[in-house]
Amino acid sequence: MITLEYGGMTHYITLSERDIRGRNSSLQSVPTALNIFYSDSNPNKQLWYYFIPYVGNPFTGYHLVYYRLMLTAGINFLNIDSYYSNLISPYANVDEIITERSENQNSNRSNNSSFVSKTQDRIQLYAKTYGANKYESTVFGVALSKIADRPIDVFAVSEQDLQTLPQSSLNTFEQLGNITVYNTSLRLNRLIADADDARRLRSAAYNYNLLDRIGMKRCALCSCEIPEIIHGAHVWGVADIRSCEIIDDSQKYAHAISGHNGLWLCHNHHKLFDSNILAFDLDGRCLIKQSMPHSHESFIRESINVHRLGTSIISDDFKYYLTQRNQVINLNGYQAI
Ligand SMILES: [Zn+2]
Repeated sequence: MITLEYGGMTHYITLSERDIRGRNSSLQSVPTALNIFYSDSNPNKQLWYYFIPYVGNPFTGYHLVYYRLMLTAGINFLNIDSYYSNLISPYANVDEIITERSENQNSNRSNNSSFVSKTQDRIQLYAKTYGANKYESTVFGVALSKIADRPIDVFAVSEQDLQTLPQSSLNTFEQLGNITVYNTSLRLNRLIADADDARRLRSAAYNYNLLDRIGMKRCALCSCEIPEIIHGAHVWGVADIRSCEIIDDSQKYAHAISGHNGLWLCHNHHKLFDSNILAFDLDGRCLIKQSMPHSHESFIRESINVHRLGTSIISDDFKYYLTQRNQVINLNGYQAI
């Protein structure tokens, strides 16, 4: 990185790589530059990115998403016009990031290093802590912080025994003021002593595992994609898991956060499922309880445009959880939607 004192400002200039191969190779210096920039308490400063002559392609779909994040995070390009003729603009809001990120991830399932989601009152960044991903998380966090309309929770997703983000990234997040970092062990089924934390972390781990397994929030029955009204719906319910006497606490936690033990449902369909007005058979067919008032039944039928769950949802483990659930309801009293 180059530091330039000019015009009463400190300019931090990070450079592209000469040989661009992997998706991260041309960008690996960016998160570090961001952290150095934020560690400087002088307010008169600017952060830049400069392309040096390269071999390879620094304008893949992945790179373009990353450049938009960089612009959103306040990193400006000094000479991108010399190499790329289309306009690249910063993200205007968090929904744009969620949508574009999920399109990028759906076309390349291995590219799932971090997830962004949101609820009614919070934004969630699920940030992996392993390898290059841990630095990418910094760019995501800063970009989200600049455009967030509500507080951000960053959940560090542990892998390979790493359970925290780098200290330099934690310092940057602290300075931004609207980010809370939860260093947790989402994949290790760890029981948390504090009850509030347990609830928050259980729900964070569950949502992360659902995102990882079945992709972005989209109601499995009506295809609604508004994240604020879409929930992870347990198939084997948490209360039933808790009262199961033949498994221990760590197994209960593992079932409660399993990405196979659920699907995304919008608020209405979640309530109808939890009330056992709607159910699923083991082939994934959506069923509706018989003996409903006709007007209710037709309202529900009209609200559903997917009559059978996709194969991406119905795994063997999902069927196991569905069997647990259906044990206590009599499917004879239901009919297909
Ligand atoms: Zn729905």
